[in-house]
Amino acid sequence: MTRHVVVTGANRGIGRALAEAFVANGDTVSTIYRGGDLPDGVTGAIADVTDTDAVNAAFDELEAKHGRVRVLVANAGITRDGLLMRMSDEDFTSVLDVNLTGTFRCVRRAVNSMMRERFGRIVLVGSVVGLMGNPGQVNYSSSKAALVGMARSITREVGSRGITANVIAPGFITTDMTDELPADTKKQYEATIPARRFGITQDVAAAAVFLASDEAGYVSGAVLPVDGGLGMGH
Ligand code: NDP
Repeated sequence: MTRHVVVTGANRGIGRALAEAFVANGDTVSTIYRGGDLPDGVTGAIADVTDTDAVNAAFDELEAKHGRVRVLVANAGITRDGLLMRMSDEDFTSVLDVNLTGTFRCVRRAVNSMMRERFGRIVLVGSVVGLMGNPGQVNYSSSKAALVGMARSITREVGSRGITANVIAPGFITTDMTDELPADTKKQYEATIPARRFGITQDVAAAAVFLASDEAGYVSGAVLPVDGGLGMGH
């Protein structure tokens, strides 16, 4: 039987490449997403990750079709950049609610199934700025740094049940999220990246496929940078 892999937000960007890579890997792939078109071979269930009931219902719907989830890639995320002194409570809490609490909602539901399977691979999409920091991203970097603590606590809690939890920390990857950056800001960032370029979504997907593999069963609580050397392994 093929593995049931759930990727959040597979309609575009990194999530789309993640879903495509798991399809190519021979897995049964589904997504929890808010709308839009999906890659071939990917089953969707609509939910906003800020809505606990909707997330739980989406997992129920997908598991009824494809069996218990064995791999979760928590990818859905947003930015709402601004300088600290001008950042509203809403700008802060809305980013935390998607990137951190949204991930928690998905992980909590997925672990329920993984415990029964006595197998699980949890991959959280963090960010290089979670550990390096970035001006204008106090909300976003806080949410991404917290995922490291989450993965490590999950590892300590359920690591004996065949479940691993790791964080991928992408650097700058070309997607809608980074397309919003002004051209001169992109140039400045590129100059600081040892690889001197932004990454592509497939770079992140390849790392996720590895962390989700059977062979990565002894890798847990790790942060895997995919950043062209920007964070120097943190
Ligand atoms: P995009 O903005 O291209 O895509 C974001 C995805 O998240 C979309 O599918 C979006 O859905 C989904 N999403 C956002 N909010 C919610 C929500 N409340 N409920 C369900 N789905 C939601 O971003 P990227 O592909 O670039 O980023 C993907 C992940 O990678 C994010 O966690 C991001 O923080 C992280 N990352 C990205 C980097 C980059 O350079 N691009 C670098 C480091 C990390 P919808 O289409 O409905 O909005």
